[in-house]
Amino acid sequence: MTALLIDGKAAAAELRAKVAGEVKRLAATYGLSPGLAVVLAGDNPASEAYVASKKKMSVQSGLQSFDQRLPGSVSETELLALIARLNGDPAIHGILVQLPLPPHIDATKVIEAVDPNKDVDGFHPTNVGRLSLGLPSLVPCTPLGCLKLAKTVHPSLVGLEAVIVGRSNIVGRPLAQLLIGQSATVTVAHSKTRDISTVCRRADLVVAATGRPGLVRHDWIKPGATVIDVGINRVASEGGRYRIVGDVAFAEVCGVAGAITPVPGGVGPMTIACLLANTVKAACLLAGLPPPELL
Ligand code: NAD
Repeated sequence: MTALLIDGKAAAAELRAKVAGEVKRLAATYGLSPGLAVVLAGDNPASEAYVASKKKMSVQSGLQSFDQRLPGSVSETELLALIARLNGDPAIHGILVQLPLPPHIDATKVIEAVDPNKDVDGFHPTNVGRLSLGLPSLVPCTPLGCLKLAKTVHPSLVGLEAVIVGRSNIVGRPLAQLLIGQSATVTVAHSKTRDISTVCRRADLVVAATGRPGLVRHDWIKPGATVIDVGINRVASEGGRYRIVGDVAFAEVCGVAGAITPVPGGVGPMTIACLLANTVKAACLLAGLPPPELL
């Protein structure tokens, strides 16, 4: 058996095209131009690359992009003052603070300082709480992308056995809430889970978000199951180079799974497309307009 490849690039391009159409409509009908501010403190090369791609995709979709570059030595007070300015700026509808922040800055304090209505990452406790209560909210982009990709294979997730490997606040936990909202039966496995391969083998849908390259092996997967690989891991390659691999042992799992996302080209592009969709949603809500059905 060879698993069907779930094409995250194509799904992301489709979503970005919808976002671009909506941006045009909002400008033409209401003179509203959704703006996204991305705050980057320091010069972490992976963060630089993510921020550059977010900017490029924002501009291509017609969004206003406001880059906020700060030195790694920026103080917490200065960063909080910037967030307060962005919160009060009517041209900005979405604020994303690229993580990780420099170690002397309290990330929780910064996340809590972002206006929940502009929190397009969905990390503010208000949005986390609303998601867990099943109320409308801004939802974290990576879990949204995972859900969207899972739905390309399973248009309905009702009653599906889903196992998420990883319980982080940015992926595992919010994804569990989203999947519960879709009436899936959800198990969250993590580094302390006993006999994790047996837990995963009962799943119709496995989502791996651990940051452990190749952790999920072929004997963790029920034949025909759908596998979503969130991992982005840089591993050494020939000639002193690096390549990006996921948390799933891709080649061997392809022989068992029914469908699988590649890395790169799976969840990564969807995460950015969902960020753009969240910015449009935030802009509409802030303007008192009904948010479009983009996702
Ligand atoms: P994290 O370090 O915050 O959390 C990792 C989770 O994995 C923890 O809950 C831990 O319990 C679990 N874990 C670790 N080792 C394990 C093991 N041996 N067995 C079972 N569980 C284990 O990581 P994160 O921020 O959630 O990111 C996870 C991965 O997803 C990383 O590779 C990251 O780069 C990637 N990521 C990708 C995107 C994207 O857009 N594609 C977005 C966010 C994160």
